[in-house]
Amino acid sequence: MINLLKNLVKARSTADVGELQAAKVLADYFENLPVDVNVDNFDGNRANCNVRVKSTGEKPALLFVAHIDVVPPGDQQWDFEPFAGIEQDGKVLGRGSADMKAGVAATAAAISEILAEGTELKGDIIFTAAAGEETDSCGILRFVNNDFDTLPPLAGIIIPEPTGFDIVTAHRGILWLKITTKGKTAHGSMPHEGINAVVHMATLINALKDFKIDYPAHPQMGDCTMSINQVHGGNATNVIPDNCTINIDIRPVPGQPHQDIIGQLQSVCDKLTAADKDFQAEIHIDRSVGAMESDNNSEFIKDFSKITTGAGPITVVYTTDASHLTDLNIPITIFGPGETSVCHKPNEFVVIEEVQKAKEYYKKIIKHYLT
Ligand SMILES: [Zn+2]
Repeated sequence: MINLLKNLVKARSTADVGELQAAKVLADYFENLPVDVNVDNFDGNRANCNVRVKSTGEKPALLFVAHIDVVPPGDQQWDFEPFAGIEQDGKVLGRGSADMKAGVAATAAAISEILAEGTELKGDIIFTAAAGEETDSCGILRFVNNDFDTLPPLAGIIIPEPTGFDIVTAHRGILWLKITTKGKTAHGSMPHEGINAVVHMATLINALKDFKIDYPAHPQMGDCTMSINQVHGGNATNVIPDNCTINIDIRPVPGQPHQDIIGQLQSVCDKLTAADKDFQAEIHIDRSVGAMESDNNSEFIKDFSKITTGAGPITVVYTTDASHLTDLNIPITIFGPGETSVCHKPNEFVVIEEVQKAKEYYKKIIKHYLT
């Protein structure tokens, strides 16, 4: 299992390199086992690895959904080579070690040991390790499009992301918007002949600075958050700018309709246009991913807590591929080895003992629901 983890780290599966190598490493691990393995290669080097363990089919199946892509190492200096897959002081070091190749290796090892022990399964195990979770979710969307219809009835979905073994059953969504103010260019020496889009953007930013999106707070997650994080405008010091764009990061809570948020921002813009007919703004959606919230009273989640840590379910603010699985209406738990605090940063690592613990948890889960 630890060798698998190290080889997955060595596969260097950032979005630009692609996940094909990592998918092959994972597929090879299952080579001599009685499972169906398929490396689903697309768009050059992008790839999902899909694994299915067939059973007698008497019980609903379990679906494990992971990702095999990683974020790039970044510009900051690391204390070690990010993709060397080094083992040191009881840890595996490297980009992706925690997020989330530890979860991938632990799931794979749990499946392999269950099969080696000759456990008779009454429900299938479906394990998909998807591409692109860190960027555009291309892998899970491909799985949703191609494989959703072929899925057997499911007892639950487990996402082995690094939660430090917290049982996460709800998270926020993502709504990334661009708002562009439109103006009219003119020579910098004759500003009265133009309409300055940058100045209009300043008015809009002021209006949005203290704007609160109107929606009831979620009992655990609180309010939907919004931040203006990028601004681009103008072409030269001596040209009145005819456009200026801001990028806004909004994190909606479960149940909150994205169209409603856009509608509220549109009314802010409409008010500014009513006050000054030269003020023109357009809203464009860059990314829209729903929030996720499982039913904590479902049998699956109540049992999950009992057979794992005993702790109650929690919510988190980040978003995972779980958002793309909500149409299945199946309870989802995000639960795995590694700390969220080391992810997407230099010197990422995972403690080997935690990976072993994860494997034992996944074996227990599989045995509980599928035997
Ligand atoms: Zn992740």
